[in-house]
Amino acid sequence: MTTQQTFVIVGAGLAGAKAAEALRTNGFGGKVILIGDEDERPYDRPPLSKGYLQGTTEREKIYIHPAQWHLERDIDLRLGIRVNDIDCAAHEVKTAGETLGYDKLLVATGSAPRRLTVPGADLAGVHYLRRVADSEALKAAFASAQRVAVIGAGWIGLETAAAARAAGCQVTLIERGKLPLLAVLGAEVAETYAALHRAHGVEGRMNAGVAEIIGDSDKATGVRLVDGDVVAADAVVVGVGITPNTELAAAAGLPVDNGIVVDEHLATIDPDVFAAGDVANSYYPLLGTHLRLEHWSAALNQGPVAAANMMGTLTSYDHVPYFFSDQYDCGMEYSGYVGPDGYDEVVFRGDVAGGEFIAFWVRDGRVLAGMNVNTWGVTDAIEALVRSGARVDPAKLADPEELLMYVAANAAR
Ligand SMILES: Cc1cc2nc3c(=O)[nH]c(=O)nc-3n(C[C@H](O)[C@H](O)[C@H](O)COP(=O)(O)OP(=O)(O)OC[C@H]3O[C@@H](n4cnc5c(N)ncnc54)[C@H](O)[C@@H]3O)c2cc1C
Repeated sequence: MTTQQTFVIVGAGLAGAKAAEALRTNGFGGKVILIGDEDERPYDRPPLSKGYLQGTTEREKIYIHPAQWHLERDIDLRLGIRVNDIDCAAHEVKTAGETLGYDKLLVATGSAPRRLTVPGADLAGVHYLRRVADSEALKAAFASAQRVAVIGAGWIGLETAAAARAAGCQVTLIERGKLPLLAVLGAEVAETYAALHRAHGVEGRMNAGVAEIIGDSDKATGVRLVDGDVVAADAVVVGVGITPNTELAAAAGLPVDNGIVVDEHLATIDPDVFAAGDVANSYYPLLGTHLRLEHWSAALNQGPVAAANMMGTLTSYDHVPYFFSDQYDCGMEYSGYVGPDGYDEVVFRGDVAGGEFIAFWVRDGRVLAGMNVNTWGVTDAIEALVRSGARVDPAKLADPEELLMYVAANAAR
């Protein structure tokens, strides 16, 4: 008689939920224990800065699985419980009340918002956005606020600014760089986001450092900038990046370097411990490098790959990086990765001023990444171009009459 195996997943976010799902879909018949420190069953975070924040997406729609789903699949979902310790040698995890043995362990603990450390950062009315309760608090704040200051013009800051405008608030976007998203997109495409927000009445304070959040009776009333200017605000949103939740793994002696270091099979140096999602710094064979991506699609797809490897089916995670964003009436998808060596040029195809275009980041004649804005059905072609590593003719890339799939198929190796 064989004893039943126990697979434990720490972190009941998207990566954890998708791993649990894949274990059952792939026929794992042992125990699956999915432990999360939030009280909510696994949910998607992208709506928290979009439809759910704006009141157009119902709460029930954000969940990854229906309420009875875990029970029906014999997945032991434990909510509101924090794992405090991993003992790799003993194959155990510890919560406040229990020690649980595992045969295989997946760490999918995600990430947490980076906190501001300036004076006044703890005042009421200063908001961060990661959990469903944060989104609800922000929605309530936008309903009563006249002026909103958003600190940080990354994806969260920009989507939140758009939601605040939709709620009728005056919005000031405070960013220390000279353009929103400059480090992610480069100046050519970052400028299109600056223009989008200007067109929707957002005031931009670029090249601006935050000195202090000022307040009255413990409630934020504005943001004092390093140059002395004060941006008055009834609500302040901070979106200055995230840090991976690596403490557990580090304390367990697993290598951590900007995330838990895993190979292309999402395995740590301990063959019984895996990591996936925001917390994982995984090796991408296609790109020849380790990357920690804070993307919904990485969590969605890494969970099942980790599950396959936990079951002993050697599977590589080799997706082309992909993410999306929605702001106002502007939807976009980005596929690929530019990397620290940068790009030579951005080639545009379509109508940039009209907000319907594709941008390609090109180095040495090869497409590193492409971003389609209000232009749909082209992701496969962009991924094919990126994956091929082939040299493309920039004139063909820019020409909307040239079918993108054809360009990809006929690019010179
Ligand atoms: C507001 C918002 C909007 C976003 N929009 C987009 C978007 O438009 N496009 C896009 O590509 N990406 C987007 N993202 C990013 C995307 O949601 C994340 O990449 C994804 O949620 C990562 O999933 P994960 O499962 O790795 O981590 P998480 O979703 O962070 O889940 C990890 C879970 O583990 C729990 N946990 C941590 N430590 C422990 C512990 N010790 N014990 C038990 N539980 C623990 C955490 O509380 C959390 O519930 C957005 C993120 C946010 C916050």
